[in-house]
Amino acid sequence: MKLHFLGTGAADWDIKTRQPEDTQWRRFSSTLVDDKLLIDPGPHIFDYAEMTGQLHLFDNVTDIIITHSHQDHFNCQNTLKLCSGGRNCRVWGDMADLRKLYRVLGEDMTIDFHPVTPGQKFTAGGYKILPLHSNHATTDKDEITLNYIISKNGQKMFYGLDTGWFRTESWNIIRKAKFDCMVFELTMGDIAPGNKRIFCHTSIPMLEIMLQTLHAQGCMKPGCRSVATHLARYLHTDHASTRERLAPLGVDLAYDGMIYEF
Ligand SMILES: [Zn+2]
Ligand SMILES: [Zn+2]
Repeated sequence: MKLHFLGTGAADWDIKTRQPEDTQWRRFSSTLVDDKLLIDPGPHIFDYAEMTGQLHLFDNVTDIIITHSHQDHFNCQNTLKLCSGGRNCRVWGDMADLRKLYRVLGEDMTIDFHPVTPGQKFTAGGYKILPLHSNHATTDKDEITLNYIISKNGQKMFYGLDTGWFRTESWNIIRKAKFDCMVFELTMGDIAPGNKRIFCHTSIPMLEIMLQTLHAQGCMKPGCRSVATHLARYLHTDHASTRERLAPLGVDLAYDGMIYEF
């Protein structure tokens, strides 16, 4: 699979204050798989396509999966744009995402939406996709926020944005899998205990413990690649320092525009 990171930041990046010369800038997190499957149609995806001169980036997207309805991950207008103009994209997510589409788009809501259930596999764009309940929440109290296991041609990837420690029922599925690639969220850096995000996001010390456990339980195939994304602007230092900090853990650090193949 080929992962194309269109954005690698958490929700505290403000595109309005971006300086053109800032090469370390991060857009909101979104990832394109094999140019075909888009994970999280956030508000910055077209900015990425335009600023990098890839105007046809989304031409082959057939399916869009949504992790949760937070504004940095799911933008209704951009989703509509991806699903119109002759493209027949299917959109997959929790019912809360459908409620948001109706709330925001009103009678323009013509998107082909398919609700998903944690633990129930579905097929989209040739991928077998298994949604898992993530450890996260939004203002929609009925929302089931999601991580995904995505498989194709014998390869398996975990996509874990946004989440803290895995929920038990999700861990019971994750621990039986053997991954070729795991994408972790790393909202928090090496923060001191006390940060309020600790129960719904991941820090470097937490990632370290997760990785030890995943390795010990045999969830990562030999050569399994690990990559961290979704970094908060104010909880990390510069890219190079974080990359160095993660190197001994065997974790790569994503940046906007990174292409990652496994
Ligand atoms: Zn987020
Ligand atoms: Zn979130």
